[in-house]
Amino acid sequence: RVVVLGSLIVDLMAQAPRLPRPGEAVIGESFHSLLGGKGINQAIAAARLGAQVTLIGRVGQDAYGDAFFDTLQQEGVLSSFVSRDAKAGTGVSLVIIATENGQNMIVVNPNANMQVPVADVEQALRGVQQEREREAPADEQAGRSHKAVFLCQCETNRETYTTGLRLARELGMTTILNAAPVSQLADTELFRSADILVVNEIEAATYANSSVTSLETARQAAERLLHYGPQHVIITLGSQGCLWSARESSGAVEHQALPPFAVQAVDSTGAGDAFCGVLAALLADNIPMLDALRQASAAGALTTTKRGAIAALPTLQQIQELIP
Ligand code: ADP
Repeated sequence: RVVVLGSLIVDLMAQAPRLPRPGEAVIGESFHSLLGGKGINQAIAAARLGAQVTLIGRVGQDAYGDAFFDTLQQEGVLSSFVSRDAKAGTGVSLVIIATENGQNMIVVNPNANMQVPVADVEQALRGVQQEREREAPADEQAGRSHKAVFLCQCETNRETYTTGLRLARELGMTTILNAAPVSQLADTELFRSADILVVNEIEAATYANSSVTSLETARQAAERLLHYGPQHVIITLGSQGCLWSARESSGAVEHQALPPFAVQAVDSTGAGDAFCGVLAALLADNIPMLDALRQASAAGALTTTKRGAIAALPTLQQIQELIP
């Protein structure tokens, strides 16, 4: 069982010969819209591995909102806790890309993503807990062991993920915080309520207030982040793979670097989301951390081989084919 709390955002992408100057209109060369947002990307990444996934989020009462529900249904993600805001529209991100040099300009309007009711988070988590209690005797008889995993990022209203992490932990779920997008300061209270903190190198550097440019500097940043309280810190390092750092009961810190899978990368969008979603799905299935991280890295690598995020998220079979 995986519960994801997070964003649903439509990327509206226009390609133009160059970026417009203030007040200027430039004729575009192409336009397309793509469904995304860290929340739905991670939920679908987990669902493609066969996990039972519930997404908590909010969209507007507009055509984009309808499109998100269609996609969630196609992907088998439970959407009963994706609500619709009567006033705020669906979250949108306006992206302009310049053909001449690849530079871009982006405006993100979170809209309904910032109106997720805290009560929805509480209700979803308590519902999952009740379901688990009901299923426990049958699972035990069949020798199945599942965990419930709660995964969130920081693209919804703050109260939702602080409440979600705290309540999920109280209910005995494994909590994963993907502390993205980066904000200025490390929120130590928030980090403490995560069992597992996942950050990329930019986020790690910001929260640890250091630079992360190599495995050695990543290790130092991880040690600082572990001080904030999570038991595990995972720093994803793009084409360099990732670093897993854990606090042992003795207080000592263990680091394990996972080398990258060699792929032909064309677009890195969604790699971190694939990584987080796959990690959550595998931990819910009681797969040991090292094995889960290897598969999450493979998922991240595969996601870079295709354009877009959702369209590029791999299946379990594709992940297994990449792993020797
Ligand atoms: P984010 O999208 O959050 O910045 P990363 O770029 O660090 O996340 O990617 C997440 C994970 O995906 C990495 O830890 C790595 O395992 C895998 N990955 C990303 N880019 C590549 C790449 N070019 N080659 C191989 N693996 C990659």
